[in-house]
Amino acid sequence: MVWTPQRRSLLAGLAGAAALPFIGSPALAQPRPRLVVIGGGFGGATAARFLKTYIADADVTLIEPQATYTACPFSNLVIGGLREMSAQTFGYDRLKTEGINVIQERAEDVDPSARTVTLGSSDTLSYDRLILSPGIDIRWDALEGYGPDAQQVMPHAWKAGPQTTLLRDQLEAMEDGGLVVMSVPAAPYRCPPGPYERASLIAHYLKTQKPASKLIILDAKDQFSKQPLFLEAWAQHYPDHLQWVGASDFGRVVSVDPAAMTLSTDFDTYKADVANVIPPQKAGEIAARAGVADQTGWCPINPVDFSSTLQDNIYVIGDATIAAPMPKSAFSANLQAKLCALQIARDLSGAAIEPTVLANTCYSYVTPDAAVSITGVYSNADGKLSSMDGAGGLSPAGAAPAIRAAEAAEAEAWFKQITRQTFG
Ligand code: FAD
Repeated sequence: MVWTPQRRSLLAGLAGAAALPFIGSPALAQPRPRLVVIGGGFGGATAARFLKTYIADADVTLIEPQATYTACPFSNLVIGGLREMSAQTFGYDRLKTEGINVIQERAEDVDPSARTVTLGSSDTLSYDRLILSPGIDIRWDALEGYGPDAQQVMPHAWKAGPQTTLLRDQLEAMEDGGLVVMSVPAAPYRCPPGPYERASLIAHYLKTQKPASKLIILDAKDQFSKQPLFLEAWAQHYPDHLQWVGASDFGRVVSVDPAAMTLSTDFDTYKADVANVIPPQKAGEIAARAGVADQTGWCPINPVDFSSTLQDNIYVIGDATIAAPMPKSAFSANLQAKLCALQIARDLSGAAIEPTVLANTCYSYVTPDAAVSITGVYSNADGKLSSMDGAGGLSPAGAAPAIRAAEAAEAEAWFKQITRQTFG
């Protein structure tokens, strides 16, 4: 992967800010700012830690209903039978020892005018600044036949945990000769290359364990992330086990019937033995309740500091945001969290909020020991996020196996590093 100068300077800039003292803000009546974060995933847990790093004397509270977090990155390896689920889970003990108040509850409501969060227990918390990183929720009304009950039959596995295990179990239970059908939605959705990495690893499982079986991807798009690299890998490794059907070939799934195990497009009906339906998505529900989601279901932000454009004193980071061309990824959520925490610290200390440069790298496995990647570099000047020409790019096409293997090793190092930075 090319390590661009822009990426280096951004990360150096954030690291250099680590010792920012909180020198008190005339804007706040309280001597200690009350900083609340909703959602303890890649965005929220990182934000809580970096707020505490940048503003040591702040009261930092993280609200997260789960005692442990289950990571989506690398969960496709679990589905492919190449990794244990236990390697995907992380706790919040380190955050607690760092002085972050971790409340294991769901945030039920936000009142932006009173600046309070209501918890499941009905307790309320006051905040001076609130960061939301609630990830995604499924749009249960967007795909005919795919309501909450359908996920138990046709798992989406797009939130890691029991759904991941269910899909893996279904693949294991399937007879050799079975048909796996995956449905992929139109953008925007969490992790643009994620479906195609998953398809690669399912195809690998079929090829090696159930060679008479096949996977069909039904796609609502004609173009997708890292497309030339995936198509190259599929032609090389899975010509008999994976078929991709794009929108122009009537790949868009318009309805599903879990009882009949069928997925219908405008042209055909496919009967599946295992169906992985990745449905349309929106920002986690609490975003709408806080009044920071717009009619698209996602949250508009000011990209310089990720403050909501719809409510004062609220910031939104991670998958819930409208941040294209930055993709909805753990890498993005983590970096947005650091930037948001830094800008809040600067704002509270009266310093100016300056534009900066952001980046994202997404790795995807195409076989158990080969990966490809895409890197983007983004400016947040002029009130919008835009790709910086000439920076970033794709892994080379037609690369030797050693190059793909080196990227797989990089992917593993990335996962170790980002989970350590997020959860300690
Ligand atoms: P999450 O990490 O989902 O965190 C949201 C948290 O908020 C959750 O813990 C949830 O419990 C909590 N929450 C929700 N509502 C509330 C509430 N009301 N009150 C309190 N807490 C709440 N990204 C990569 O960078 N690289 C990859 O290789 C990669 N692979 C992926 C593979 C798959 C199969 C999938 C599905 C995703 C992958 N991603 C990858 C994307 C990545 O998982 C997400 O982009 C990332 O998790 C987004 O972080 P987040 O903080 O926005 O949301």
